[in-house]
Amino acid sequence: MTAISISREVSPKRRKLKKIGVFTSGGDAPGMNAAIRAVTRAALANKLKVVGIRRGYQGMIEGDFIPLKTSDVSGILHLGGTMLKTARSEEFRTSEGRRKAYEQLKKAEIDAVVVIGGDGSFTGALVMSQEYDISFVGIPGTIDNDMYGTDYTVGYETALNTVVEAVDKIRDTARSHGRIFFVEVMGREAGLLALTSGIACGAEVILIPESTEQNDELNRFLKKGYKSKESSGIVIVAEGDPCGGAMCKAEEVRKAHPDLDVRVSILGHIQRGGSPTAKDRVNATRMGVAAVDALLDDQQSVMIGITNEKIVLVPFNKAVKLNHCIDTDLIALHQLLNR
Ligand code: ATP
Repeated sequence: MTAISISREVSPKRRKLKKIGVFTSGGDAPGMNAAIRAVTRAALANKLKVVGIRRGYQGMIEGDFIPLKTSDVSGILHLGGTMLKTARSEEFRTSEGRRKAYEQLKKAEIDAVVVIGGDGSFTGALVMSQEYDISFVGIPGTIDNDMYGTDYTVGYETALNTVVEAVDKIRDTARSHGRIFFVEVMGREAGLLALTSGIACGAEVILIPESTEQNDELNRFLKKGYKSKESSGIVIVAEGDPCGGAMCKAEEVRKAHPDLDVRVSILGHIQRGGSPTAKDRVNATRMGVAAVDALLDDQQSVMIGITNEKIVLVPFNKAVKLNHCIDTDLIALHQLLNR
């Protein structure tokens, strides 16, 4: 992926900010707390006041604000979820909702805001910043790792490890009973979590929305590979695969191969929770500090990304409109090892 980096040189005239807001929005992801902590402490170190906006855009509309001091973000670095809570807000999608949100920010004298969330949250920030005089900088927080312009999103690494741990356990049962398990992994539109976890678990087949070739792989495995692999197997299915998810695909296979012992496991919400990995903590911390830095540099409507281990700034309109393409080398690699 090409890095879309806006210059990170500190502008000669740092912006005179007094108070910033920070909030989490959309689905929760492990490492969001680490980002909140970093934003808060970096801002305080720069003599800014910090306000936590609770419950995403809905909390912004309702003025659900709490002042944040150093001690308020103590002891949260290792915790999953988000201390500020998160939400989805239909009201914020309306111009009236955004007007209320802006009035609440002005009333609280908040000059600029750090939004931690996915592409929907950044779209909301972009729309609001075009209507009102308020700057947003974003930190990508989503377990799908599907944002354009960054190699990494907060929470992805932890979710990946959670999936691998769960599938390793399922594998024990699959082997012991000679079963084929269809394991559904989160990712409505993006299959990266399914693909990387599948590779890490040695899954025989991985079904993802980005590639239809994998269906042939499944047929090959059912006809031939299954018998040669101790008559058991793991098929990872991304939630958003066009086959309709693990349940549908397993049903189809059961009908076509009544002799096989086919089972389904939908990992569900365990993938979102848990203590963030060291990498998620470190990257969320780097991004939190970079977000404050960007606001002080008068950057607006940009997402903080990490590309080739370096911090980059990506305009919101690119981050939300362009797709994060899946690495086809990873698909090829998996196919090579499962012929
Ligand atoms: P995830 O990847 O976990 O789904 P997300 O940030 O993409 O996270 P969304 O539910 O898509 O989650 O968006 C979060 C919130 O952002 C929405 O509930 C809504 O309040 C706001 N939002 C999304 N799209 C828009 C839009 N086009 N205009 C205004 N607000 C929006």
